[in-house]
Amino acid sequence: MPISGDLLASALASIAFVGCAMTSAASAPGPHTQTRRREVVVNGKRIKTVDVHAHCAVPAAMALINQPLEASGLLMTDTRTRIEAMDAQGIDVEALSINPYWYHAGRDEAAALIKVQNETLVEFCAANPDRFVGFATAALQHPELAAEQVDYAVKTLGFRGVGVGGSVAGVELADPRFHPFWAKCEELGVLVFMHPLGTRELEPSGRLAGSGLLTNTIGNPLETTIALSHLIFEGTLDHFPGLKICAAHGGGFLPSYAHRCDAVCRTFPDRVGKLPKKPPTAYLRDGQLFFDTIVFTPEALRHLIAETGPGQIMIGTDYPFPWTSTEVDLVLRTPGLSDDERIAILGGTAARLLGIAP
Ligand SMILES: [Zn+2]
Repeated sequence: MPISGDLLASALASIAFVGCAMTSAASAPGPHTQTRRREVVVNGKRIKTVDVHAHCAVPAAMALINQPLEASGLLMTDTRTRIEAMDAQGIDVEALSINPYWYHAGRDEAAALIKVQNETLVEFCAANPDRFVGFATAALQHPELAAEQVDYAVKTLGFRGVGVGGSVAGVELADPRFHPFWAKCEELGVLVFMHPLGTRELEPSGRLAGSGLLTNTIGNPLETTIALSHLIFEGTLDHFPGLKICAAHGGGFLPSYAHRCDAVCRTFPDRVGKLPKKPPTAYLRDGQLFFDTIVFTPEALRHLIAETGPGQIMIGTDYPFPWTSTEVDLVLRTPGLSDDERIAILGGTAARLLGIAP
């Protein structure tokens, strides 16, 4: 996508802010100071912003398998600090998800855990229905059970999305054993939020040891890259054309180097196995895959959008983990977007997919 200085200038000129509060409250715990709510306005219109990448925890569910709490900011017992951070950042709605920690649990244990977890998530959202929606959780290690859990979560509890890891206890999401789960997600039209759990199979090798927190820094986006690549090359996305999957962290490394996937089909057509129906890069932009904005710079987001199209991108903050508190500004500062495209990225697309009132 070309960058035009004039386009950028006109786009920025049409954007205004009201109630732009200081952002230092985003990560400041302790005494609550009144935070002015930042209201995001594009071309004179107040728009609703939606964050599709925000974490929380349900301790009652974690207790069932003695899972420790990673960070106190995940708790929803006091949502005031969280809402103040949202207000400061200009986030109107968070779509809450829980990183899977239960993929090794047995069937009965997993059934009980998911039940209490999803029911509690619904309560979290109901306490502040204007500010929170949730991604249901499911025990993918038991695919038929997971399909039932999604069915119940959507039809009875009212969820419009479901969260998954980037793999399930070492098994790729593209493995045919998960087809019942994908079929249910497709049938119900839910958005699947895919968040990596790291490339844990690499960790015993020591390749990610040492400085740099590489298990997270590159281990997380690497897992997303592997998961998406298999979903494309193993035909999962062909098998379920109605699937909608949002990949965390801008889809990991895949959108940065996706054309190598097209090139391998030309270069080694006899060695790549069964070819997907389309060139691999087409899957990034054809409506099945979505990506959050956690790529840190306007140039990185510009490139992601160049590979995927603006309609595939939604804001992510990773709250309460302080990777970023400036996603709204990132979208506003990314060159080459029309007002409508910015509005879609800031919240319009997520609102449509998750059934959030505009
Ligand atoms: Zn995250």
